[in-house]
Amino acid sequence: CLSKRRKESLSTLLIKNALVLATMDDNRQEISGGGLLIRDGFIESVGKTSDLPAEADEILDLSGCVVLPGLINTHHHFYQTLTRAIPGAQNSNLFNWLKTLYPIWGRMTPEDIYISTQTAMAELALSGCTTASDHLYLFPNGSKLDDEIEGARQVGLRFHASRGSMSLGESKGGLPPDSVVDSEEHILEDCVRVVEKYHDPKPGSMLQIVFAPCSPFSVSTELMRESAKLARHYGVHLHTHLAETEDEEAFTLEKFGLRPVDYMASVDWLGNDVWFAHSVHVSPEDIQVYKKYGCGVAHCPSSNMRLGSGFAPLMEYLREGIHVGLGVDGSASNDGSHMLAEVRQALLMARLRAGLMGASLSGENAPKLITAREVLEIATRGGAAVLGRKDIGSLEPGKCGDFIAVNMNRLRYTGSLTDPLSALVFCNPGWVDFNYVQGKAIVKNGELMTVNVPDLVQRHNKAAAGLVRNY
Ligand code: ZN
Repeated sequence: CLSKRRKESLSTLLIKNALVLATMDDNRQEISGGGLLIRDGFIESVGKTSDLPAEADEILDLSGCVVLPGLINTHHHFYQTLTRAIPGAQNSNLFNWLKTLYPIWGRMTPEDIYISTQTAMAELALSGCTTASDHLYLFPNGSKLDDEIEGARQVGLRFHASRGSMSLGESKGGLPPDSVVDSEEHILEDCVRVVEKYHDPKPGSMLQIVFAPCSPFSVSTELMRESAKLARHYGVHLHTHLAETEDEEAFTLEKFGLRPVDYMASVDWLGNDVWFAHSVHVSPEDIQVYKKYGCGVAHCPSSNMRLGSGFAPLMEYLREGIHVGLGVDGSASNDGSHMLAEVRQALLMARLRAGLMGASLSGENAPKLITAREVLEIATRGGAAVLGRKDIGSLEPGKCGDFIAVNMNRLRYTGSLTDPLSALVFCNPGWVDFNYVQGKAIVKNGELMTVNVPDLVQRHNKAAAGLVRNY
């Protein structure tokens, strides 16, 4: 037992012969026949296979595979995998969609949160995600953030758990019914409890806590302010939904006399420790505010299209150097947790927007089309910057051993091997073949190693049926 433990803690993993290894380092180095040496979970060297040591405790030959840093998901609501494609919420905009779903979500149990976390994370892992953030903002029937933390631990992805909250029920002028909101005193107490119990800020951290009041229309001004104070006291990040729809802007104008970004300024929610989901309806001045304060954005193209919310100004964000990560968003508004698919959606949505701005007419002033490499950067380096992580997002010495590999000898990639990295985005996405987190296999040869998927599907469908039984 002791020798096994010693071997695990000092183990080396050699990745070799990648068709191409995209490092996403500052020079965006791409290495044909590339490899990695990972020691004790961290990358020791990156280079051509011939320049790396020949021996290691574990050797993985990735001939025919594209290797890249693990993708980082910056916005999700795992529990919504229980309510995908609910008929009454299929054709609604955000506010009506929420009003249909709040009462169903209000029936969730701790077990439902645990199971749905595993389902969402299994799908994320198989689609190339190695670090996921989740925003859990309602805790019915005794549920706790601990339920999803436990579920996540089993799957093995790096996890940023956002302790969300809703305190502004209908009776106080908010959108959610009173039955799903909590008292502000309890919310803040529980934030303190989870951050002290779980938050690990060290390099290689597998679990960090985030404070995340749900949205301007579901929490009070006081709770926004107090959450910001508490987050800064503990040095953790802040996250919320912002500028997602025009309904939201109408709400903040009516209730606070401010547009959403100005409202954030008024509650001390600007800084490089803050990231906002969506940020679709922002003005050029708002973008300058994000730039000045270093605020990050979780871009969620599928959800924004699914709910008819609009286009986020992705190219403007990139041009201004705003930190942008990618988010699949909750599985009731996507309705999938497929990271590689979201990368592709980000490319297509940005190009559609460019088309609406004149890209179909050739000429000097035609808007630029986003590239496959740019959207992959958003999903890797961008996500790391948004979450405030310096130890992930690229394959470089000293960084975490988080990588994915896709075998390109597949029907869907046939004929694309002149540029296999771009093919990952342009061709239809599937599951990845390998997904390693901190040098440990989560997906190997296309199989999830940590959770039994057929069993999970059964348990999940049973839990989902229980929730919508009286719907
Ligand atoms: Zn969301």
